Amino acid sequence: MSKRGLGPENTVLSRSVTVRFAVSPGTGLLRPATQYPSPNQDERPVGIEPDLVIIHGISLPPGEYGGSYIEALFTNLLDPDEHPFFREIEGLRVSSHLLIRRDGEVVQFVPFERRAWHAGESTFRGQSCCNDFSIGIELEGTDDTPYTDAQYEQLVPVLLAIMQAYPEISPRRLAGHCDISPARKSDPGPAFDWLRLYDGLGISEGISR
Ligand SMILES: [Zn+2]
Repeated sequence: MSKRGLGPENTVLSRSVTVRFAVSPGTGLLRPATQYPSPNQDERPVGIEPDLVIIHGISLPPGEYGGSYIEALFTNLLDPDEHPFFREIEGLRVSSHLLIRRDGEVVQFVPFERRAWHAGESTFRGQSCCNDFSIGIELEGTDDTPYTDAQYEQLVPVLLAIMQAYPEISPRRLAGHCDISPARKSDPGPAFDWLRLYDGLGISEGISR
């Protein structure tokens, strides 16, 4: 099914949901979001405010949706005996600021003011260590299966709230994990519809990431 053809309803959505999400100043907590704190976080470098958003895709086990395995991974509670893939990633210490599940639920693991561990070795326009200055948003999904309407419908207002709180984050400061770690990462993959995102954000002109 085509995901194009977004019409006025999307504009209405962006407008109406702007008030639905807000970032608490000072703490970097998103409201409303399910708070699920991860121990995999630390201080950003002194004086650094986030000025980049990285979009990711994740599913655990790969290709399977639902369940609480992503939360378990980000809180170091994934049982390696539950799936062969979990054995492969045993000991991994990672997190993201947010997860948007297939049904649109928004989960926050790390406040935006702090550094989450989502990017790994990475470079954005010559600047390395993207974790230092970025916000990581995971979408539950895979590279080649369309992300859900509910996910786009939440991602847009979440980003608008983030951009309001951190004005350095412009639409030109949105990137995929595949863009900052091209040799290692392919997420969020070709399934992620950047044009749909830009439409939702109200950007009418094409934009080059
Ligand atoms: Zn990623």
